[in-house]
Amino acid sequence: MNLAKSRAAFERSKLSHAGGVGNALRLVPDPFFIQYGSDSRMTDLDGNEYIDYVIGYGALILGHSPKVVNDAVIEQIAKGSMFGACCELEFMVSEEVVRMVPSIDLVRFSNSGSEALHFVLRLARAYTGREKVIKFEGHYHGWTDNLFISVKPLANMGLPNAPWKIRESPGLPENAADNLIILPWNNLEAVEKTLKNKGHEIAAVVLEPIMFNHGGIFPHEGYLAGLRELTSKFGVTLIFDEIVTGFRLALGGAQEYFGVTPDLTVFGKAFGGGYPIAGFGGRKEIMNLVATNQVPHMGTFNSNPLCLAAALATLRELSKDNGRVMRHISEMGAKLRKGLNQVFENSGFPMRATSSDPIFVVNSPVLELRDFRDYIKLDFDFIHRFHREMQLERVWFMQRGNFMLSAAHKEEDIEQTLDAARRVIKRLKGKK
Ligand code: PMP
Repeated sequence: MNLAKSRAAFERSKLSHAGGVGNALRLVPDPFFIQYGSDSRMTDLDGNEYIDYVIGYGALILGHSPKVVNDAVIEQIAKGSMFGACCELEFMVSEEVVRMVPSIDLVRFSNSGSEALHFVLRLARAYTGREKVIKFEGHYHGWTDNLFISVKPLANMGLPNAPWKIRESPGLPENAADNLIILPWNNLEAVEKTLKNKGHEIAAVVLEPIMFNHGGIFPHEGYLAGLRELTSKFGVTLIFDEIVTGFRLALGGAQEYFGVTPDLTVFGKAFGGGYPIAGFGGRKEIMNLVATNQVPHMGTFNSNPLCLAAALATLRELSKDNGRVMRHISEMGAKLRKGLNQVFENSGFPMRATSSDPIFVVNSPVLELRDFRDYIKLDFDFIHRFHREMQLERVWFMQRGNFMLSAAHKEEDIEQTLDAARRVIKRLKGKK
């Protein structure tokens, strides 16, 4: 594969742009530089066209450069990109969110998921008058000091039922984790025990409803409902981080999919159809603290009109014809996931595509995964080799195995991806 222009661009970029990449995830030895994206595909500087299943880390739910979003943003650009004052788009988007996500009575917008999560912890602390927060080992909630703890701890982890708190970066202050309690995922007893012992100190339980940042691990049957019951009993705020699952797993996100109602929800990525906007919302009683400014929510770029125009166009597209677009995304995901599994099984390849349909994860070897400690038993070298070989076939997904579908993916993409997987397996088999 010719990557000469990307390589030259990378060398040039490194001279002024730290590491030559804009995000630590892109810090791989041989990143490609993109010229343009269209529908389900993107093309690099050397003209290689990839079928894209990263789709902006999930933000491009309608695919690359979707006309409905482009039109809405261009129309808004002509009126102004930024007001620093109220505009009608704010309530137009809010009304859609409130309609689509029943647990949300009131909503506010921010620029990124990390920022929104940082804020909802403050809100939950203010509401409960307590300081501690339960977070699960292996869950990612952005990069703030508050939460960049025990996301992917690989050493000195402590016992499985009482994980140590591991700071994920130099520079996080020693006391960054003081107010966190880290627990194993999918272990209701551990949560119950902690709440019984310290419930009066705990403001919130925060979680990814499906652990998509590591392995796509589903909550066990009754686990989310159990968390709902326990948090209600102990007066603890239940926060769903739906940055990945929101407006993707279902119109109403994971809470609709699983039928469990949180107190507060954070969403982002797909919500903005590729534009940098996230948000949070929940029960009126809690959100009134924001509405009345008892907990001030600040931000120069909050509710940016261009991003709101993109979000409105995206939400309208997703919900039109009773969610036809959402159904298409799920259908394409199911086809690809099942097709890959058939290819893996037929060839005795030790890999499985698991989790949901709109987003799934290929893991190897085939293991039952319950929590982060199971996840790290996977063979990452092998998963990365599969990823690299698929890249050479011009199929692009996340290195850790996550595939995300969009409205722009078609049967043709799925067929080409399955053909690529067949060729890759032939190459890799025998080396295992
Ligand atoms: N929560 C989850 C579950 C995420 O996957 C991410 C981003 N990958 C975030 C929070 C952070 O969002 P952002 O990158 O917009 O700050």
